Amino acid sequence: MFPKYFSRSIATAVMALIGTWALEAHGQLETGWKIHDRSRPAPKVVDPGEEQPSVKPPGDAVVLFDGTNFDSWTGGVDKWKIVDGVMESVAKAGPVMTKEEFGDCQLHIEWSSPSVIKGDGQQRGNSGVFLMNSFELQVLDSFQNETYADGSAASVYGQFPPLVNASRGPGKWQSYDIIFRAPRFDGDGRLQQRASMTVLHNGVLVQDNTEVLGPTNWIKHRHYVRGKTTGKIRLQDHGNPMRYRNIWVRRLATERAAPKSPYPAAAVSLPAEKLDSLTGTYQSANQQDFHVMRDGGNIYCKFYGVKMKMVALSESEFLFEQCAGKISFQRNSSGQVQSAQLYLDAAGERTGKRKTGKTDKARTGSKGTGSKGTGSKGSGRKGTGKQKAGSPGRVSKDAAK
Ligand code: MG
Repeated sequence: MFPKYFSRSIATAVMALIGTWALEAHGQLETGWKIHDRSRPAPKVVDPGEEQPSVKPPGDAVVLFDGTNFDSWTGGVDKWKIVDGVMESVAKAGPVMTKEEFGDCQLHIEWSSPSVIKGDGQQRGNSGVFLMNSFELQVLDSFQNETYADGSAASVYGQFPPLVNASRGPGKWQSYDIIFRAPRFDGDGRLQQRASMTVLHNGVLVQDNTEVLGPTNWIKHRHYVRGKTTGKIRLQDHGNPMRYRNIWVRRLATERAAPKSPYPAAAVSLPAEKLDSLTGTYQSANQQDFHVMRDGGNIYCKFYGVKMKMVALSESEFLFEQCAGKISFQRNSSGQVQSAQLYLDAAGERTGKRKTGKTDKARTGSKGTGSKGTGSKGSGRKGTGKQKAGSPGRVSKDAAK
């Protein structure tokens, strides 16, 4: 037994530490492959079609290179060249990297390897796009060029080959569209979630939400840098004259918007007889009818064939459990429900006059409110004439009469 002072929080922290260690220490082994194993199958070749015109940056993009200048770049910019609106790497000039740092982002980049083939394997048309200055998406002339699979064009270098080889030939313009998610760390800098990449190469999916095992490296697995969630975008100088154009990036929101306040929960629990007093078909002039039915202790509204669970705020006011909207019931002086007003954010408001009789029985019958069918068979327009009186818990007030 742990002593009392070995609190749950300490135990949780220890377990998190062990978990993080396991995640990082064994990361490289998860693929089952050692780095650059030449027995790893080469990605299947897929013809991506002819060169495509440049994709114009969307309105919220940060344009990193529009063909005119290196204003957004640093590093080897004094030696790299701009020729006819195209950025060209120069051997031994070193990489160029953005002045700004990026975390979660959508990156578009177009590149072309030399049209004159020199060298082979990794020495032919090699460069790389590094996200966060750490994670290389390989750039390589992989058109009929044999190399290790995890070093092919569009590989997460040394970790994950592309799903397919969608390369165009030497000198052709190619594109990468990268959806990058930065790693997540807890408040103490411990890794909680790895970085990930989804990549289209010439419009073909080649990385599908691939979890990056750590910063990429030639021959060694490296661990994540604790707490680092942004970094520069870097283009590699690997000694080959590579060309880049039309580079833009969109910063991606980290979190989606959440409701400003929680939606109201059920305020009352209504017995079956109260719920049954609401069931029936509600006819709306010149508009789609809606139907109210009970199934066990729950009540539903079926609208355009969709059966929606309702949450009771009172005996006459209900919200829809999943869809934004509400329904309220109006009673006469005798307490009988006469009509209902349905409002959906998706469909607006309509008032339905309650119709009693055979249709009600059909809509509230046992088959139609079963858990499997969401009102398909028994709640259909043909009714449930086969229903036997006294079916436990499923017979509506009207049907039970
Ligand atoms: Mg490279």
